Amino acid sequence: MYYGFDVGGTKIEFGAFDADHNRLIQKRVPTPRDDYQALLDVIAQLTLDADSELGSQGKIGIGIPGMPDSETGALFTANVPAAMGKPLAADLEKRLNRPIRIDNDANCFALSEAWDGEFRQYPSVLGIILGTGVGGGLIINGKIFTGKSYIAGEFGHLRLPVDGLDILGRDIPRVHCGCGHDGCIENYISGRGFEWVYNHFYQQALPAKVIIERYRAGEVKAVEHVERFLDLLAVCLANILTIIDPHLVVIGGGLSNFDEMYPLLPEKIKPHLLSVAKVPRIEKARWGDSGGVRGAAFLNLLD
Ligand SMILES: [Zn+2]
Repeated sequence: MYYGFDVGGTKIEFGAFDADHNRLIQKRVPTPRDDYQALLDVIAQLTLDADSELGSQGKIGIGIPGMPDSETGALFTANVPAAMGKPLAADLEKRLNRPIRIDNDANCFALSEAWDGEFRQYPSVLGIILGTGVGGGLIINGKIFTGKSYIAGEFGHLRLPVDGLDILGRDIPRVHCGCGHDGCIENYISGRGFEWVYNHFYQQALPAKVIIERYRAGEVKAVEHVERFLDLLAVCLANILTIIDPHLVVIGGGLSNFDEMYPLLPEKIKPHLLSVAKVPRIEKARWGDSGGVRGAAFLNLLD
């Protein structure tokens, strides 16, 4: 059995999977935000309950919003303060007497998509999450490419490109980013960025959902906004594609439900690529909210 934990800022999702990727158990519990001992207790209890229910000792994979230090294993995870700086894998290994694998949650999302039955044919898969922020992961030949310090795929913290200034205007504010820098692209192309850009141009704070409803109704400002936003998203994606040249791009997160963008993106991306480059297939994520927990469980199926 393969157990996956998707540890988020507010909830922990747990899933138990068999070797054929079928999900046998699904549970969701609140994340103990500031109490590390309580966090260990919750993970241990879910594990032991599943062990007894399934009559086996499952292998554990954990996805977190952040990354383990590549030398010490201490976690950097601003959204789960209880685990910040803690050697979660080592502590759980001692307590549960089995190896624990931990990876970035966006990497787990990308792994889950890359192992989808149909997507498995692609040698390289780029997963990008357009949610509150922008996360991403890169899967090469079915394996996560983490880089030296788990930074590979952190596309949200790329700098706003100069073509972006042509689209947004030279005087666009460099929005302060959660990472400490100013002007990272996630502040403009995430779901939150979608709302921020609308508010910047029209001085009206609207949820993305409402802007999209207005776009579908043909409202002039919303149509103009979506055009501008997709132009910007296309430039940013084109930069990433020029570095990686993936066979498949899978988009997840709240904005991935904006289905109208999929037919429009390729034609907007193409002019920003080298003339010999082909725009890859771009698809909406197939596994929705369960991608993180699936990918976490699959960490023990790697190798
Ligand atoms: Zn940043």
